[in-house]
Amino acid sequence: MGGHSIDIDIVILGGGIAGLWSLNQLRNQGYSAVLLETQALGSHQTIASQGMIHGGIKYALSGVWGGGSEAISAMPDAWRECLQGNGKVDLRGARVLSEDFYLWSDGDLQSRLGSFFASKLLRGRIEKLKPARFPAPLQDPGFKGQVYRLIDMVMDMPSVIETLAARQRDAIFTVDWTQSSLTQVAGNARIQLPGCELAPQRLLLTAGTGNEALIRELGGHSPQMQRRPLQQIIVKHQYREPFYGHCMGGNPSPRLTISSHTTLNGDPVWYLGGDLATQNTETSPGDLIALAQKELAQLLPWIDLGECQWSTIKLDRAEPQQSALLRPDRAFVGKVDSVANTLAAWPTKLSLSPDLGNEIDRSLEEDGIVPRFTPDLKSLEHLPRPDIAPTCWDARFQ
Ligand SMILES: Cc1cc2nc3c(=O)[nH]c(=O)nc-3n(C[C@H](O)[C@H](O)[C@H](O)COP(=O)(O)OP(=O)(O)OC[C@H]3O[C@@H](n4cnc5c(N)ncnc54)[C@H](O)[C@@H]3O)c2cc1C
Repeated sequence: MGGHSIDIDIVILGGGIAGLWSLNQLRNQGYSAVLLETQALGSHQTIASQGMIHGGIKYALSGVWGGGSEAISAMPDAWRECLQGNGKVDLRGARVLSEDFYLWSDGDLQSRLGSFFASKLLRGRIEKLKPARFPAPLQDPGFKGQVYRLIDMVMDMPSVIETLAARQRDAIFTVDWTQSSLTQVAGNARIQLPGCELAPQRLLLTAGTGNEALIRELGGHSPQMQRRPLQQIIVKHQYREPFYGHCMGGNPSPRLTISSHTTLNGDPVWYLGGDLATQNTETSPGDLIALAQKELAQLLPWIDLGECQWSTIKLDRAEPQQSALLRPDRAFVGKVDSVANTLAAWPTKLSLSPDLGNEIDRSLEEDGIVPRFTPDLKSLEHLPRPDIAPTCWDARFQ
C-alpha cells in the first residue's frame, strides 16, 4: 500500500451494467474516470439477466403505475438510440437477440386483464397478433390462446458487456480488496491501491449487492438496500426455434418468462423466469426443475425439446430499500450519508440503465462537479485487468 495520490474526477466500483454504462457515459462527457472490478465484468446480476429491455408493460399488468412509469416507458427507445450510436453511450456492436417480445396466454387474456388493456400508456406499445404472425413455438393447432407483441426487445448480454468494456479497456482494472482499502481524508472517500491512492471528486458505487458492504465500510447507514431473490431455470436442449415471451396466468405478474440464448458451442438454451422463479426461491433445484418441466408440458405440450440438460441458478436482485417491497421503476442514485463525495447507484433493472445515466448527470450537475483532472492512467498499469464473466449456461454446461 502507500504510494502517490492521483486526483481524478470519478472512480467507479463495480463493473456490471451500472458501472460500465456510467464509465462510458462519463468519459464520453470528458470526465476522467476509472472502474475497479473485484471479479469479472458482468458478474452476478448483469450476465444472469434475461436481457429484456422493457418499457414497463410488465408492471402495467399489475394495474399500478408508479412515479417512474414515464421513465421506464422511454427506455426501449433510449437503448435504440445508443445502439445506433446516437445516445450518451455508444452501443454499436452490441447484438439485439430479438426485436420481438410476446405476451401470451393459454386462455382469454383480454377478459382477464381488462384494466391493463385500458391503460393509456399501452397505446402504440402492444399489438394483438393474428395467428399467422404468432411466433413459431405458438404456431400449433393445439394452441388456443392469444398473443400480443410488445415493443420491448432483448439484448445479448455478453455482447453488451464486451462492447461497453472494449471502448474503455484502458480505464478498467481489477481491485483486490485484500491489498486495497477505502480510506477517508477530510470527509472524502479515497481508494488505497497497491502503489497509489485514488482521490476522486466523486466515488460511484455500482457494485450491485456489493454496495451494501461498501456503504458499511464507509461508515454509512443510508442509502439502504433490499434484495429480491429468485431462482431461474436453465435448460439446454435441441429445439431450434427461439422464443421470447411472458406467459400470463391468473396473476398480474407473468406466470412464466422464456428467453432464448445459445451456448458457446451453439446449443440452444431456454432461460426460464417469471413467477416460477420468484415464487420458488427456497425450492430445491431438483423439485424446481420438475416444476418447470410440468409447466412446459402444460403450456407448450406440442414442443419437443429433445435431449435436455437442466440446472437452476439462485440470485438476489439488488435495489434501494422500498416500502412494502414495491418494485422500483426508476433507477436510483443517492448520496452515502457518511462521506461527502460518494454516490450509491442501483439501476434496479437493466432496462433502466439510460435512466441511471440521466440520474448521475443530474446529481453531478446539482453539485457542480465538472471535468477537472486529467490523470495519467499509466500509473495504474501495474494492476491486473478483469475478464468478462461467462454466461450461466456456459458456466454450467461446458
Ligand atoms: C435472473 C435475473 C434476470 C434479470 N432479467 C432482467 C431483464 O430481463 N431485464 C431487466 O431490465 N432487468 C433484469 N434483471 C435486473 C438486472 O439484471 C439488474 O438490475 C442489473 O443487472 C444490475 O446491474 P448492476 O451493475 O447494478 O449490478 P451487477 O450486475 O450485480 O454488478 C455488480 C458488479 O460489481 C462487482 N462488485 C461487487 N462487489 C464489489 C466490490 N466490493 N468492489 C468492486 N466490484 C464489486 C460484481 O463483481 C459485479 O461485477 C434481472 C436480474 C436477475 C438477477
